[in-house]
Amino acid sequence: MAKWGMVIDLEKCTGCQACTVACGMENTRIPGEHWQDVIFFQEGTYPNTQLKWFPRPCMHCENPSCVAVCPTRATTKNEDGFVLVDWDRCIGCHYCMIACPYGVRWFQNQPPTYGGPDIMKEFPSGDGHTLIGEEGRNWNPPWALPEAKQDWKHGVGVGPRNVVTKCTFCHHRVSQAPKGVADLDPSDPKLRDYTPACVVTCAPGARYFGDLANPDSQVNKLIANKNGVRLLDQYGNKPQVYYLTGEGGSVPANRVIKKS
Ligand code: SF4
Ligand code: SF4
Repeated sequence: MAKWGMVIDLEKCTGCQACTVACGMENTRIPGEHWQDVIFFQEGTYPNTQLKWFPRPCMHCENPSCVAVCPTRATTKNEDGFVLVDWDRCIGCHYCMIACPYGVRWFQNQPPTYGGPDIMKEFPSGDGHTLIGEEGRNWNPPWALPEAKQDWKHGVGVGPRNVVTKCTFCHHRVSQAPKGVADLDPSDPKLRDYTPACVVTCAPGARYFGDLANPDSQVNKLIANKNGVRLLDQYGNKPQVYYLTGEGGSVPANRVIKKS
């Protein structure tokens, strides 16, 4: 079985947030709901400061604390390494949001954070475009994926109200990839459509996606040869997202523990 993982080279990342936009478009998220965030922060003391940034998807942890606390087994870790939320089972209790040390989960009914209208109220269901699932939990944004492409069991598409959502590693793309592929390289036309949208769109090529269980994968080689590190490793979640920091990387210095 594959164990899909991501490597992000912080020396290449320019903080352009194209990954954030591509993710929002690919996954039909609400304005302000960023499954793939880029966090900006300042290091140093004024006037000797530096602006830095940090791209942060769901880590699809090997030992995910979000799974352990979910009382309905809505959040699961599957055999290919994805951590996913089944929106039919999620009761919106927020336990997983509290348990996740990386703050990557979103509650699907949160008031808008961007100052605009409440999109879910703007586009109620009941006008002939009702999505799959229980009536009353649905809403109907005009940009919704076709119903046939939505997959509530894996947290893909326009989720119902009052559930938790998060990055799926583009499960709907990656799960269709040919079996046995070591890396999903977007420069290969045969693999591009199966590669996560954030990886495809990253202009400086700072993101890599591949099979951590395959010793020949480029992601494994990068982690080994360029000293890949995991964020907040002291919590024991064992993220499947690794960062390459090089000389000038921007992982906050007090938050990094070397990989075990
Ligand atoms: S980053 Fe958070 S939400 Fe993602 S798998 Fe790890 S604990 Fe779960
Ligand atoms: S909010 Fe949903 S996914 Fe999260 S712990 Fe509760 S039931 Fe599970």
